[in-house]
Amino acid sequence: MRRRLLFLAVGVLLAVAWPVAAQQRVFLSLATGGTAGVYFPLGAALAELWSGRVPNVQVTAQTSGASVANIRLLQRGDVAIAMVQNDITYYAFNGIEMFMDRIANQPAPVATLRGMAMLYPETIQVVTLRSKNINSIAELRGRRIAVGAPGSGTEVNARQILRMFELGYYNTRPDFLNFAEAADQVKDGVVDAAFITAGHPTAAVQDIAASRDLKLLPVPREVVEQLRVQWPYYTAVTIPANTYRGQTEAVDTVAVMAMLVTRQDVDEALVYSLTRTMWENVDRLRAAHARGRDVTTATARRGMPITMHAGALRFYREFGIR
Ligand code: GLU
Repeated sequence: MRRRLLFLAVGVLLAVAWPVAAQQRVFLSLATGGTAGVYFPLGAALAELWSGRVPNVQVTAQTSGASVANIRLLQRGDVAIAMVQNDITYYAFNGIEMFMDRIANQPAPVATLRGMAMLYPETIQVVTLRSKNINSIAELRGRRIAVGAPGSGTEVNARQILRMFELGYYNTRPDFLNFAEAADQVKDGVVDAAFITAGHPTAAVQDIAASRDLKLLPVPREVVEQLRVQWPYYTAVTIPANTYRGQTEAVDTVAVMAMLVTRQDVDEALVYSLTRTMWENVDRLRAAHARGRDVTTATARRGMPITMHAGALRFYREFGIR
């Protein structure tokens, strides 16, 4: 009898203790961008949502140099999830452009990257002040330009777009500034223009418009066509009039897509829960930033440039999301 009781007690203890041990808290980092962009506020909302709704998971949104830097953080295992531009994700997965090994002169793919979701369009905004009397990107020759933080997707976009106007870092004066620094230096007239790749309206651009007469320089449609020949992830978009204070006319430019990227070795069940929780509470993202409205299941898989993570794929299949 005693013995049986003992077995029972041990059995009960095991049944209770095992799941507790298996459910140790998991701490994850989500790499975003600078504080004056859109990745950070949306990423912070996402981290809060995940921490609150996925059992035993604590997610922290961290600031970073954005897209290219975020790929490196994922690659090194410093973060499990990151917000990244689709063009940069594609280059990384295939080992092209800045992910070429220049010394060996061969692709250095980051093959462990896996997609979770496509998010919202990020507009390439070329911002100057009216008082600078600059009317086109071509007129930026010899000028001081904020081209994005080191390791940002913005910086890659700036380089590619400048190239269409026969401009580059050899005939302009580039400054590698994050959005907040760029906004300050545009306001002070230190830099003549700034490239900002982020969902509009972007806090950094709103900040300039609040105290100065800003001007957005267009990327004309014929240039978009040329750009797309080499880099097909660019799509034509128009920034509507009055997106920013004092911006009375609509401006043509290009956009890329923001997406959520993880790594192949991140647990399948965990990615499933994160993906499911995000889509079941997507209204929270809508409250965090205007572009949250573009984050929908209808476009979650559209144009995904890399292999989907197995956990995310299971969610999309179960819920009939194509
Ligand atoms: N897309 C930008 C980049 O990778 C960051 C945008 C943001 O911070 O909202 O450079």
